[in-house]
Amino acid sequence: MIDFKQLFGSRPWIIAGPCSAETQEQTLKTAKELAANGIKVFRAGIWKPRTRPGNFEGVGSEGLDWLRTVKNETGMLVSTEVANVKHVYESLKAGIDIIWIGARTSANPFAMQELADSLKGVDIPVFVKNPVNPDVDLWVGAIERLEDAGIKQLGLIHRGFSSYEKILYRNAPIWQMPIEIKRRRPDLPLICDPSHIAGKREYLLEISQKALDLNVDGLMIESHCDPENAWSDAKQQLTPQALKEMLEQLVVREISPEGISPKLLDELRAKIDVLDDMLIDLLKKRMNISEKIGLYKKENQMAVLQPHRWDTIINKYMMMAGENNLSRELITKIFQAIHQESINIQDKIINPKK
Ligand code: PEP
Ligand code: MN
Repeated sequence: MIDFKQLFGSRPWIIAGPCSAETQEQTLKTAKELAANGIKVFRAGIWKPRTRPGNFEGVGSEGLDWLRTVKNETGMLVSTEVANVKHVYESLKAGIDIIWIGARTSANPFAMQELADSLKGVDIPVFVKNPVNPDVDLWVGAIERLEDAGIKQLGLIHRGFSSYEKILYRNAPIWQMPIEIKRRRPDLPLICDPSHIAGKREYLLEISQKALDLNVDGLMIESHCDPENAWSDAKQQLTPQALKEMLEQLVVREISPEGISPKLLDELRAKIDVLDDMLIDLLKKRMNISEKIGLYKKENQMAVLQPHRWDTIINKYMMMAGENNLSRELITKIFQAIHQESINIQDKIINPKK
């Protein structure tokens, strides 16, 4: 792994700054407050990928001068998002220290290839956000294009995934994705962007803590000197002071050299939590389908219990239990409970209480 530690200092590495550079005053004021709180790497969007036209799309190249001023006046390293070849050339010309590629861009192999070609021979850190869709191969593929172009200082940013279903957060974290990318590419640093997962500042702490417990290397968090009046992503930004207070609340568990350390235990528990969340989600989906079957049975005058169907289910899972080294007793209990709940749900539909 490249020595990002030299850039960022100890874990967790923090990249902070506004969603967008709006004015020179706002950029510099935010940067100075962050620097005073010990932040070493500043972020600000100059070109903003907005889903629909008409929203603030960034100040463009003019903002690069403001970032240069931030660098000169605070000593922080500065970073911004690039989405096309022009952005790359202008950022490099302006002396931007770190660039990242956004979620809409990393989902597009043509765009990724063009960016990779334009970055040939460049030696600055490049972070790649996860694509908007949860496709780990697409994410790895984006990284491979940059590696093929000779980029050495590569990192990953987990920022969550678009979801059709209404969810609590703005973007679904799908924690198994950062776990899987870390398994596939343990050599690359991984940081979490809780801001774009959360969508609202109140969720930033819980998401950041979860990410740290999954052993991410750092956090990219949006911070603005006047969040309420931010021109983009107002609800998810924190003042530099609020960011400082949030960071102080995070528990960073250090790795001990051998055996099951408390750190490893927390990591394993965080993984279990992710799987348990998935179980709940799957059970909810299963019961919703069961309800639909109940309606069908009611309309077609069918009995709730169809014994041959139940026999098929239980036989199949008994066999799978054996193949997967799971105890038959456990699988029987689980499926009996699930089946019983389905029957109860369907019974309520077919025989509603008067
Ligand atoms: C951002 O970091 O401001 C941004 C637009 O991120 P994403 O690509 O994750 O939406
Ligand atoms: Mn943003």
